[in-house]
Amino acid sequence: MDTRTPITNRLRSLCAHENTFLQAVDEVLSTLEPYLESTGATDADYARLERLLTPERIITFKILWTDDAGLLQHNVGYRVQFNSALGSYKGGLRFDGSVTPDILKFLGFEQIFKNALTGLPLGGGKGGSDFNPKGKSENEIRSFCRAFMTQLYTYVGLDLDVPAGDMGVGGREIGYLMGMYKELTHGSAGVLTGKPVEIGGSFGRMEATGHSVVYFARAMLKTEGQTLAGMKCVVSGSGNVAEHTARKLIQEGAVVLTLSDRTGYIWKESGLTATDIDAIIEHKDTGANLDILKLTNTTFATGAPWQSVVAEGYFPCATQNEVSAKDATVMAESAKLVAEGANMPLSNDAIKVLHDAHIPHAPGKASNAGGVAVSGLEMAQNASHYPWTAERVEEELVAIMERIHTLCAKEGKETWGINYVKGANIAGAKRVLAAMEKLGW
Ligand code: NAP
Repeated sequence: MDTRTPITNRLRSLCAHENTFLQAVDEVLSTLEPYLESTGATDADYARLERLLTPERIITFKILWTDDAGLLQHNVGYRVQFNSALGSYKGGLRFDGSVTPDILKFLGFEQIFKNALTGLPLGGGKGGSDFNPKGKSENEIRSFCRAFMTQLYTYVGLDLDVPAGDMGVGGREIGYLMGMYKELTHGSAGVLTGKPVEIGGSFGRMEATGHSVVYFARAMLKTEGQTLAGMKCVVSGSGNVAEHTARKLIQEGAVVLTLSDRTGYIWKESGLTATDIDAIIEHKDTGANLDILKLTNTTFATGAPWQSVVAEGYFPCATQNEVSAKDATVMAESAKLVAEGANMPLSNDAIKVLHDAHIPHAPGKASNAGGVAVSGLEMAQNASHYPWTAERVEEELVAIMERIHTLCAKEGKETWGINYVKGANIAGAKRVLAAMEKLGW
């Protein structure tokens, strides 16, 4: 039975301008439809898959806040509550000028599969605003966060929706959002994760996403009897995920050649050290870009992209669609593996280039799932009023990532190796679709 055309046709007419969301759906359907076909799925199974593509709810709101000049400003906020079959909606908040319903639908859709892979009772969601924190003062960021929560708070809750951070939203912003939530509800429930430890956050949450990418890469290499030691690696981005991916890679003995931002990339032939990374992060924390950072024995490149740097391991950790098919063709000449820290950093054509070249490639929904997994552990700690040690959290994270790798390897086995995209989609979808069936959806 060929239902591919009807599923995407209907969606395309409903979401004609949502190219990023449609890209994420295409990637998932390219592996799930053949899987359903091969398992003799019924019409009801196809219909359930089609239902999974529509968010349960999208909340849109206006945020009024006051800037330092005393002028009233406004932005638009959203929460996409995509699928709650497995539990409360769970997914980050992104504050960036590029945020649109299209971007949040793609992120919320990916989150469903990612959360399912963790094995925890977490549904999928995502939210954020087109507010751009760059160049804003501390006071303006606090003012915006408070105004954002004033609009959002009735739609979130422990058994309903538990947001976390994402691009532009770190511990500081989560703290301000949590402060406003407490004032509005007179409650103390841990309704956000990614909180600083001083206000009920989990040890290891800040590092978890980056660490999980490296744990997943380690498991990929292990299947081929290899390790990260001595491997020349390229990391893109210089935010939360990039920082902790790079630090963990260094701990594993890898040589981290680059970090980047919107202005270009820093390159060091002998590999960035932990001290270099301290300096880079300290510099970025001031709000400055990498192009003006002076760091010994490094060069800054604006012309050629980081994608053209020759390496064995590639870790795209900045943003969606940072790797095109042309970039992937260059990367495929030297790559032994590509593990995504960002969500959907590769175009679908870029994925095809890597797969045709049989290069092991981990999609973010599998390899960066450690962030939401530790958010799930933060929820468990908050609910039991008992914080875990950093060591316990990290041990649990390693175990979860190894389980996710095993699941993806099992479902993604091909004659040429492991198709991790296929494995992640099938393993995640099986769990969500089974829950939807039990719920009568
Ligand atoms: P972040 O701390 O805000 O850092 C984002 C980094 O990406 C910055 O270095 C930024 O450069 C760079 N960047 C953003 N847009 C770019 C563009 N259009 N071109 C080039 N560089 C760009 O965000 P993050 O939390 O690390 O998130 C990075 C990625 O990981 C996102 O895809 C996010 O969805 C995903 N992710 C995050 C988490 C988490 O726990 N935080 C969990 C799972 C997945 P500038 O400094 O120049 O802006």
